[in-house]
Amino acid sequence: MQGLMQRTPLLLSSLITHAAANHAGTEIVSQTVEGPIARSTWGEVAERAGKLAGALRRLGVGEGDRVATLAWNTSRHLELYFGVTGIGAVLHTVNPRLFLPQIEYMLRHAEDSYVFFDIGFAEIIAEVAPNVPSLRGLIALTDRAHMPSLALPNLLCYEDLLGAESDAHPWPTLDENAASILCYTSGTTGNPKGVLYSHRALLLHSFCAAAADGLAVSCLDSGLLVVPLFHANAWGVPFAAAMVGAKLVLPGPRLDGASLFSLMQTERCTFAAGVPTVWFGFFDYIDRNRAALDLTTIRLDRVLCGGSAAPRALIKRFDEEFGAFLLHAWGMTETSPIATLGRLLPKHIGLDREARYDIQAKQGRPVYGVEIRVVDAEGRPLPRDGRSVGALMVRGPWVTAGYFKGEGGVVIDAEHWFNTGDVATMDEDGYVTLTDRAKDIIKSGGEWISSIELENAAVGHPDVLEAAAIGVAHPKWVERPLLLIRCKEGAVLDKATMLDFLADKVARWWLPDDVIVVEELPHTATGKLSKVTLRKAYANHLAP
Ligand code: AMP
Repeated sequence: MQGLMQRTPLLLSSLITHAAANHAGTEIVSQTVEGPIARSTWGEVAERAGKLAGALRRLGVGEGDRVATLAWNTSRHLELYFGVTGIGAVLHTVNPRLFLPQIEYMLRHAEDSYVFFDIGFAEIIAEVAPNVPSLRGLIALTDRAHMPSLALPNLLCYEDLLGAESDAHPWPTLDENAASILCYTSGTTGNPKGVLYSHRALLLHSFCAAAADGLAVSCLDSGLLVVPLFHANAWGVPFAAAMVGAKLVLPGPRLDGASLFSLMQTERCTFAAGVPTVWFGFFDYIDRNRAALDLTTIRLDRVLCGGSAAPRALIKRFDEEFGAFLLHAWGMTETSPIATLGRLLPKHIGLDREARYDIQAKQGRPVYGVEIRVVDAEGRPLPRDGRSVGALMVRGPWVTAGYFKGEGGVVIDAEHWFNTGDVATMDEDGYVTLTDRAKDIIKSGGEWISSIELENAAVGHPDVLEAAAIGVAHPKWVERPLLLIRCKEGAVLDKATMLDFLADKVARWWLPDDVIVVEELPHTATGKLSKVTLRKAYANHLAP
């Protein structure tokens, strides 16, 4: 017997329609690429997304056509999130920090019809556009006064396009399983692979992101969205914010500590979302300017943090400085991305702070919607004992079923499990602790050393800003750990001090064979430590 409820499809357009109807006056604040702070509202974003939809149709964009963005977090990019997907076209968010050949590869592979770009990326566009045959036009995300002077073919101005449109039309009814957003993973080997999200997947994911045991976001919140709109749907926060009518604060190209602090202060942000690296810079700014800053003006209540392991030291700092809860998340582009979240259980209430930080430092428990298990080399589930290390497998309605155009072949098994390539343990409460990316594990004498654990221990030192642990070839042990550290400004550290500091924090045989202080650590385009670069650079460091 069938139920008798309405079969309203789960579409992203329903979010912006709801935000416009019920939270029209709530602000969307952007640090623009042009310079000033711009103030918009959910109502204006909805109206302009509607005009954008009209403009796209006029440009000949239809259902299933790919439309790329190369842009920072601003209200214009947010308008594209809704305007492009709302008409059934596919928003292809491109990471502008990637190398030119990768950007070109992705635009060609996606067969994008148009690219909407921030004026700061005009040179990238000028380089790659001639090599992308599918491109019909380029749209600069700015007004007439700030149009790039570069000679670009079929160049249009975003504000002119919107200005030419009159009233918006109702959003069309689409198949909820239709594609909405396309985002390529920045795999370290081979070409990037496209993850193609459906409306249904992202809508269900929004409920999870907004929920009380998720980010617990509401219309009373003001959220600083540091995680880029070009990376894994900005962790679903824009959609969750539209769902509940939360205010959003978009930092544009300015991700430095000073700019983030200032936005957090003036916009009275109650939550924030960003990768650990961003927060290292944020606290470094606070440390260097403490005397001039009034930290009591910060209203921060919680911070969604993931993408790489949030060290215990960072969790502690957010708590001690602002009383803010760092909500540790694990996920990947392939999982929309939220898969686990580090919320506490009733039995943790009343724990002392230090014990609580230990729980928060784990990657969290499975959210409803994502099933998770850790398996051995034969694919057999391992016990949930917090000790058994194995491959982390996921499945669920917002987990990928395969990459765009079949790249990478079949990526799920007969029971739909997707192998994440991460190695982890799971404890009896379901908390996952990520040991490593499979390829980053340090294999010493047949045993495994967790690079993440070494790094977390190292950044616990008050003089360390950032740390990277890598496995380096060793004549006896196959690999041994090498620790690279970046110190805070003015701090001086040496190997002996660091080893001494680590001595009671990790097993004796885990202690790095060498510790090197470096000026900079290399990062990937998504803000993760680039271990590949480091492994290459230090390949022979422990050679006899
Ligand atoms: P991406 O698809 O670029 O978002 O990268 C996903 C990968 O980032 C995961 O497979 C993990 O290796 C890593 N990652 C994400 N969140 C965390 C976390 N909280 N702790 C450690 N690694 C993480």
